[in-house]
This record gives sequence, C-alpha cells and structure tokens, in this order.
Amino acid sequence: MSYLQSNPTAGASGCIFCDMPADPRDAETLIVRRGAHAYVILNRYPYNNGHFMVVPYPHVDSPERLEAATLTELMTLLNQGLTALRAMYNPQAFNIGMNVGAAAGAGIAEHVHLHAVPRWAGDTNFMTVAAGTRVIPEDLRITWERMRAAWPGGSL
Ligand SMILES: [Zn+2]
Repeated sequence: MSYLQSNPTAGASGCIFCDMPADPRDAETLIVRRGAHAYVILNRYPYNNGHFMVVPYPHVDSPERLEAATLTELMTLLNQGLTALRAMYNPQAFNIGMNVGAAAGAGIAEHVHLHAVPRWAGDTNFMTVAAGTRVIPEDLRITWERMRAAWPGGSL
C-alpha cells in the first residue's frame, strides 16, 4: 500500500502498472527504459540497490495471457537490465522472479511483472534489519540516472 500511496500518478486507471507508463515524467516514476511491449522501472522499495521490474503494458494477471512478442521483449529487457547492473554494481548474483497471484506474494497481482534483484554474498546480513526497514544506501534518482546511462545500446 505504501507503494501505491507514494506514487505520483497512482489512481487514474486504478492500476499503478498501467498508470506509470502513461506519465511522461520518467524521472518521477523511475521508468528506466520503454520498449514496444514492456517497460523497465525501478522498485520504489527495493530489496537491494538496483532492484528493478520489467512490466508488460497489457493489464493481465498471468504470463500465460501475454503474446509471444511481449514475452520475448520481457526477457530481452530483463537481460539488458542485468547487463546494466553488472556495469553499475558488479553484483555476484541475481534473484529473478515473478509472483503470479496474491497467494504467491504478488503485491499487485492483477498486472504481472518480473523482478530482478542484484545480490552480493552476505548482503542479507545487513539488508535485513530491525522493525521491517531496509538499508538503501543509494538515492533512487541516482540509481535511475546511472541505470539509464549504463543501459546497453545507449540511452534513449
Ligand atoms: Zn495494469
């Protein structure tokens, strides 16, 4: 809920993943890259620096309902994001995944999205702290600027 409440454009369609790309202010929504069928956006409450999501434009609740061209672009954007993060942070590993359905832990279950989280050995030791808060050393706007600059193939 805090994600929804903090977003500058939440509310127009009732779905944040539909509203975000309709807003041209990428620096506000933290959209890093726009493709033909999907877009890349930073998670406003990341598990680690560089935690991003790849979101298809169609409002569907399962990847089974996405067309082949969209599925292909989801993975292409994912790969480009991984390449950018390797250049930015030199992560040792990634968690990549999709929670399909609220019972699987999806925060916004009605609109599928893919998560990618860079990982370093031992990062959970300092990332998991008391009272449910997380340590986020880098400002999200800086992460956004760095990721756009590091995107393979150049900036927009
Ligand atoms: Zn949607």
